[in-house]
Amino acid sequence: MPKRNDLEQKALQFVMNTGFEGVLQSELWRNLGASSREGSRISIKLENKGLIRRAKELCDGRWTYRLYPKRLPASIESISDCPCLMCQDNPRCDPSSTISPKNCERLTDWILLIAKGESGAVGDS
Ligand code: SF4
Repeated sequence: MPKRNDLEQKALQFVMNTGFEGVLQSELWRNLGASSREGSRISIKLENKGLIRRAKELCDGRWTYRLYPKRLPASIESISDCPCLMCQDNPRCDPSSTISPKNCERLTDWILLIAKGESGAVGDS
């Protein structure tokens, strides 16, 4: 039987890999070879740590939970149009220098486009 911390780590990785679809709690434990009791305990622990979100769902007439990752790993596509990638000032850009992301208009404009949903980065993860 795998150790609890190993299971917790594997469970988190599994949930993160399901992305926006999430995974039914029972499906997850079946894949990891854990008991439902242990699985419930781990999913509550991951939720309490703020790593996953549990959403109640009716499945085959029984209430269960679908588990979603709270954060998804960033994809390369999500930053493909970031101005820093092609910026000539990149080697000298540093938060402690005059060329800094803190006061960069190009970076600010790009972030604002993402916030408005007008960047190619939105919805790529
Ligand atoms: S923050 Fe601005 S200056 Fe710095 S690398 Fe990015 S685009 Fe260039």
